[in-house]
Amino acid sequence: MPGIAGEDLEGVFVLKTLGDALHIKRYIEETECRRAIVVGAGFIGLEMCENMRARGIAVQMVHRGDLPAQRWDPDMGREILAALENRGVDFLAQTRILSIEQGTAYRLRLNTDHGPLEGDLILLAVGVKPDARLARDMGLALGDSGAIRVNLSQQTSRENVYAVGDCAESYHRVSRRWVNIPLGDIANKQGRIAGSNIGGTPRLFPGIVGAQSFRIFHMEAAATGLNEKEARESGYTPVSALLWGNAAANAMSEPKRLGMKLIADQSTGRLLGAQALGEAGAVGRINALSVALWSGLTLEDVYNLDLAYSPPFGGSWDIIHNVARTLLQKR
Ligand SMILES: Cc1cc2nc3c(=O)[nH]c(=O)nc-3n(C[C@H](O)[C@H](O)[C@H](O)COP(=O)(O)OP(=O)(O)OC[C@H]3O[C@@H](n4cnc5c(N)ncnc54)[C@H](O)[C@@H]3O)c2cc1C
Repeated sequence: MPGIAGEDLEGVFVLKTLGDALHIKRYIEETECRRAIVVGAGFIGLEMCENMRARGIAVQMVHRGDLPAQRWDPDMGREILAALENRGVDFLAQTRILSIEQGTAYRLRLNTDHGPLEGDLILLAVGVKPDARLARDMGLALGDSGAIRVNLSQQTSRENVYAVGDCAESYHRVSRRWVNIPLGDIANKQGRIAGSNIGGTPRLFPGIVGAQSFRIFHMEAAATGLNEKEARESGYTPVSALLWGNAAANAMSEPKRLGMKLIADQSTGRLLGAQALGEAGAVGRINALSVALWSGLTLEDVYNLDLAYSPPFGGSWDIIHNVARTLLQKR
């Protein structure tokens, strides 16, 4: 919760649990909600825009930064913004929320540093912080991210105490740093590793590469590895190329727009990250590039990858090959 006055009013929600989702759904049905304000432009806020619009609800999105989906670089963020605006979402950038009170035209009023907004429902989707209170009270070591420090066995700084999931750190194989990325697939894998170790079969969690995806209206958004800012912070000198093309072969009658961005280290040529956005084919390709990151492949390797080809799903030179070639020429 952002900690502003009025955030406990009826009609103000967060979306963390299944119970929250059911409360939101019931509220929308009972109040005949006409207009919603979504605060925060991470993947949960973005997914909720889509769902609200599908119910015919007008949506305003309030964001303190410039572009939605900060994990995606600005060139991709601008496309995500266009997808939002094309579906009628009113996006307010660089806007800080101040307080919430009863509204006049609609049930609630959100006061911001750019003036008041009104809606029947306000969703606060301002991001998550690791909840490490129990660990802190026990005197366990926390990492720089604020999440619980663990080793590759998921063991904390105290013997016989393990931590997994959103409250714990993970080893990032590309940045070579311990990070907190709160995602469900990571939590599941770490849980199995901890369970195996507790049960007497030693196993190590080999880390993550930061793969993630979401859908925004008709678009797949997916990313893996580091974005340009993270790459610089991790000591690399990133170079990048973004190419817009087709998720199918050009000969196919229905083109499906797809953008693919690759980020590599200038000196070694090692692939550092990838971001994709498109009407089709973004998630599958990002998963392939996650495997490339996992194995430490270079751009040259990526350019030579043997990828499945048939016209409904891509060209004989896939967009992955084409963007790798563009970046190789640029380097
Ligand atoms: C709306 C939404 C959509 C999401 N979509 C995706 C997605 O598409 N892909 C993806 O990878 N991830 C997604 N996530 C993230 C994913 O849900 C989380 O990363 C995952 O649930 C983390 O699992 P966890 O077990 O670490 O924590 P949680 O699922 O939060 O479970 C922690 C449990 O511990 C309990 N608990 C906390 N403190 C204590 C205590 N002191 N004593 C006892 N119990 C305690 C909590 O009540 C809770 O039940 C989404 C999350 C949300 C909210």
